[in-house]
Amino acid sequence: MGLSGIQIFKMLPKTNCGECGVPTCLAFAMNLASGKAELDSCPYVSDEAREQLAEASAPPIRPVALGVGTRAFKTGGETVMFRHEKTFFNPTGLGAMVASDIAPGDLDTKLKEWNALQYERVGLNLRPELVALKDVNGDGSAFAAAAKKIAEESEFGLVLMSENLDSLKAAVEVSAFKKPLLYAATAENVEEMGNLAKEKGIPLAVKAEDVEGLTVLTGKLTAMGLKDLVLDSGVREPKKVFEHQVVIRRAPLKAGDRSLGFPTITFPCEMAGNLDVETILASMLIAKYAGIVVLSDFKGENLFPLLLQRLNIFTDPQRPMTVTEGIYEIGAPDENSPVLITTNFSLTYFIVSGEIEGSRVPSWLLIMDTEGLSVMTAWAAGKFVGDAVGMFVKKSGIAEKVAHRKIVIPGYSAAISGDMEEELPDWEVLIGPRDASLIPKFLKDMGK
Ligand code: SF4
Repeated sequence: MGLSGIQIFKMLPKTNCGECGVPTCLAFAMNLASGKAELDSCPYVSDEAREQLAEASAPPIRPVALGVGTRAFKTGGETVMFRHEKTFFNPTGLGAMVASDIAPGDLDTKLKEWNALQYERVGLNLRPELVALKDVNGDGSAFAAAAKKIAEESEFGLVLMSENLDSLKAAVEVSAFKKPLLYAATAENVEEMGNLAKEKGIPLAVKAEDVEGLTVLTGKLTAMGLKDLVLDSGVREPKKVFEHQVVIRRAPLKAGDRSLGFPTITFPCEMAGNLDVETILASMLIAKYAGIVVLSDFKGENLFPLLLQRLNIFTDPQRPMTVTEGIYEIGAPDENSPVLITTNFSLTYFIVSGEIEGSRVPSWLLIMDTEGLSVMTAWAAGKFVGDAVGMFVKKSGIAEKVAHRKIVIPGYSAAISGDMEEELPDWEVLIGPRDASLIPKFLKDMGK
């Protein structure tokens, strides 16, 4: 478990030099304990203390990085049981299984279809990360050829699944650059698999019959110097898998048991007979506490809800999602285009900008920093009030971009129009609609 601020303080130089960005070593220790500072910020920690502190301040569940490029991701690194206690950090990786005997043309088609499943939401690209390639017939050259194709011709990361060490070696040889997950070390092959993962510097999945078996295997592998491990408790019965996910999460967080302090991999594709049931199981596992979830396929109607659920669960509940304050151009506006203003709560921004875009009326959208609060909340909190909004409009520079002096405010903030006009005597403040869906009609009517 992590050290307290006082325990950390005892290991610091106590010179209060301030080079770490805070005035005292005690303040730095407190920040380090709460995860708000990095140990590297203090240049004067002794090597011995650094080693102890690095170990103690590491997350109880090790973060493991998989893949390279646009679909690279990290799994693990979690510090709490429940999202409301702090936040969950690294979203569950989503993968789909493909059998090694798939015809090359069919694999091309699948990769193309799966690659197209990308969704833009609140400024983010939501997409799955992995293809799990399963050796189904012991044909090592077919397995390696498929691994090579996935690694070289797609953005996806890889899980290489085989019980045959030679097949895995051949596949790793052609795909190690993509940082695949090797699956899996078991009681029978733990040393050989450990050596292969260590030699190639890639993460290794560990599969046992139960949680106790995992503890034994991770003990052996960590003694060999392996750190990037991913756990599979071996069971495929949904209730049991759920229980194991909770046990594996609790052990490092609540009992300080680092032998289970690794992310997990789960296989709804081996727990259900159709993709819909797999999706329900995947949904449970994203919430409770899978590091990776592997489905039998990606279909838009199944994948999209899982991506959204994942986005919601792995968004920090204490920090509203925001967009940057400034002037946003929607549809190449000119000096005669309308000017609208709203707050920087990202959901507000994306709804309003989406409606403006849909109206096909090129417009200027001013986004004011209200610390991520929506219009009504920001108004109630005194952050979206007439004089403040007026001052923001003045300093925003919008007056240099348009020839007119009209600005549209959200309908719910109609009460600020008087104070705004006092702050902006040259401007006419127009009250926009309360419901964003009425923005297109409002903008079209404005232009008549
Ligand atoms: Fe203390 Fe190190 Fe910060 Fe200086 S840089 S105040 S020694 S913690």
